[in-house]
Amino acid sequence: MTKPFSLINELENQDTDPAHLKRNKIVSLLKKKFDFENSHLKPPNGKEKGILAKCFGYLAPDQAKELGIYPYFKEIEEIDGSRVVIDGKEAISVSTNNYLGLAQEPRVIEAARLALEKFGIGCTGSRFLNGTFNLHTNLEREISSFLNREDTIVMSTGFQANQGTISCLLGRKDVAFSDRENHASIYEGCAIAPGKTIRYQHNDMDHLEYCLKKHSDVEGKIILTDTVFSMSGDIANLPVIVKLAKDYGATVMIDEAHGLGIIGEQGRGVASYYNLENEIDLYMGTFSKSLGSIGGFISSKSKITEYIRHKASAFIFTAALPPASVAGVTEGLNIMISEPERINRLRENTAFIKRGFFDMGFQVNNNSIPIVPITIGEEALTLYLNRLLFDEGIFAGVAVSPVVPPLNAMIRTSYTSAHKQEDLEKVLGSFKKLGAKLGIISKG
Ligand code: PMP
Repeated sequence: MTKPFSLINELENQDTDPAHLKRNKIVSLLKKKFDFENSHLKPPNGKEKGILAKCFGYLAPDQAKELGIYPYFKEIEEIDGSRVVIDGKEAISVSTNNYLGLAQEPRVIEAARLALEKFGIGCTGSRFLNGTFNLHTNLEREISSFLNREDTIVMSTGFQANQGTISCLLGRKDVAFSDRENHASIYEGCAIAPGKTIRYQHNDMDHLEYCLKKHSDVEGKIILTDTVFSMSGDIANLPVIVKLAKDYGATVMIDEAHGLGIIGEQGRGVASYYNLENEIDLYMGTFSKSLGSIGGFISSKSKITEYIRHKASAFIFTAALPPASVAGVTEGLNIMISEPERINRLRENTAFIKRGFFDMGFQVNNNSIPIVPITIGEEALTLYLNRLLFDEGIFAGVAVSPVVPPLNAMIRTSYTSAHKQEDLEKVLGSFKKLGAKLGIISKG
């Protein structure tokens, strides 16, 4: 249950100073109550000893809850497209990856229901031994055909698809070149692999080339990149990545988690958008965004997938994706392909919301990606704004350090084809009102 906001009166009573002064006052008032910058560094309280002492000394979530600005693990009681009910209150969700509105689509639910009734709630085993149903292999064939790939492996999550693939490919003498803003699952895959990983500056192609050059004597090189970065909504510079990979003899693996269903021909992703599909060695995707469900996959040449299928621990030693999810995703994929109007609507919504934020004075990425981070800066102000947005009926996500660099805290908003014009107008209206109230934007 969201606590009533205890600071609100104190903060509301701020006089109407110029925007930046008002903003500073609010930030210092909040900081008096809570040491935001050092919240994750708080030392153990001394009473507890041993490996668990850190848990008992970890006070940041409690303090944020006490202040009424804790933004995580909110319980969604109902959901339909872009609408959620939280704490008994209806809100517009701009904290969703349900880009094409497929998570609650009746045909998807019906396909899932039929599979549920036929096969039960789970596979009770790994794909490797006893958890491969014809539903899995059918979906694998459909994805391969959609992406023009020889073969595909459906895994239980996108996280595991990255982790399992990278950790089994990156051998002792190999080197991975990974964008600093890549998803945590790429980091984890690299961390458990025996090979070395070099992190290049985000989307900095000069730095990538510098790193590749420095390791030109290494035979096994792989460049790893998200195609759409999940926090910033930036698009990877695939044309240059592909060129550098050729020049320096590197393999390319892309994570199209936020590219699939959003961009490229029929929603095939960024590689398609740049017409570079044939230059990509490994295509990773997930079912937890545009396809509205859970699961992930890796598509590549058959010899490569055959190796991964027999070597990736994160695939072999975990239970298979449940039948209802597989059937729902298969139906969702068909709907995505046969109803391009969903992607068109998503693009229109994205263009509308970005234009609206831009006109208000917020900086937004000038691309067609429906991830629209609103960078606020200070954590205190960001958490406070997020709480006020929630009170206005807008459910958004927050990213603070270490997910983003310190003083780069953001409200991460994202949009779907299910958002209606009036939803988008309400979101813009609330940001405008609260942005001006907190001195984040000037009154317009
Ligand atoms: N890669 C990226 C870029 C992501 O954003 C995510 C999900 N946040 C994943 C991989 C992991 O996908 P999944 O949710 O299917 O585990």
